[in-house]
Amino acid sequence: MQVNFDILVSGCNTECRHCYVNGGPGANMPSDAVFECIKKLDEIAAHLPFEACFTLDNEPMNHPDIVSIIRAAAATKHIKHFHHGMTTGIALMRRADRDEIIKAYIDNGFDEFGITLHGNAEHHNEIVSRNGAYQKAIEAAEYLKSRGARISVSLMFNRCFVDDAAELDGVLTALAPEFVYFAIPNFTPNSRMLGFEPYRASYGDLVAIEAYLKKWCSGADRIFQRAENGTVGAMIAQLENGASLKERFETEQDELYLSVHWDCELFLGNSGAETVSLGDLRSLDPERTAELIMNRRGNRDYGAFYDAERLPDTESLISALKRLDKGLVYCDPESVIHRGLAELGVPTLIL
Ligand code: SF4
Repeated sequence: MQVNFDILVSGCNTECRHCYVNGGPGANMPSDAVFECIKKLDEIAAHLPFEACFTLDNEPMNHPDIVSIIRAAAATKHIKHFHHGMTTGIALMRRADRDEIIKAYIDNGFDEFGITLHGNAEHHNEIVSRNGAYQKAIEAAEYLKSRGARISVSLMFNRCFVDDAAELDGVLTALAPEFVYFAIPNFTPNSRMLGFEPYRASYGDLVAIEAYLKKWCSGADRIFQRAENGTVGAMIAQLENGASLKERFETEQDELYLSVHWDCELFLGNSGAETVSLGDLRSLDPERTAELIMNRRGNRDYGAFYDAERLPDTESLISALKRLDKGLVYCDPESVIHRGLAELGVPTLIL
């Protein structure tokens, strides 16, 4: 088992339609509270028999004390600071102390940063719900590179890519990132997720950009293989061949996600998918909290976010999926099931 704590130190500057952590503008966690939460998580981790890590989210670069926070996060003894490195660039590029921030990250061993692109400027801004976001992401990547950081670009696949591939190719050539990741968004039971569905690409769209994909990423063949199993049509076929929904959702998982809100309330479940409140992290007893965590099942997969007794029968799920375009493509086959459950209006355990 591995445990991940998501600490929401500050809100995000965009509201991406596919965001599975419900990111968006939000309050900063007071600095004292951030330091207390990091210290308490380190104490809890000392009692855990397996690896524990935490992530500063949603956009820590919005926090006025981010430099001290990065240094405190790096000084923990029992819990690992996981730096996801992704930034919208909006917070960073408006800060006068950005050189100091990047130095703090690099000094503490984090020298890779990533931006995400959703298409050309028009489509990117539309999908992240913020004008000017595309330009800021590019500016941030150029700036980070100038400070000695390694740059990655995540391409978040959607149906606009068919029209925008040539423009994206030009941007990637100019930026020359060290890594290019190609992501087919999943569908999760978060409230916002249905808003991304009109943008969701099909397997045919992937075929249409094949030449670019092979140029951008080394693992294009694997992406195609995975995509073949992640279409609505592929899941309908699996279910018709007897795949059991309940079995899939009861499969043991080896990762447990928890989140800490800006007011220090600790929840089971990743941010945006919280299922149970455990109380104010600052007042929890470390040993008892570690024991409680050890006795929980993993919740990496969103099967953990439904009541297994209230899942629909397979026939109903197949009928719901048949109402969708069979070619629509998702990263994981589980996502297609979640999409079908959303189509049926199956309630989740999310608070
Ligand atoms: S996907 Fe990331 S950048 Fe977009 S709203 Fe969510 S947290 Fe913010």
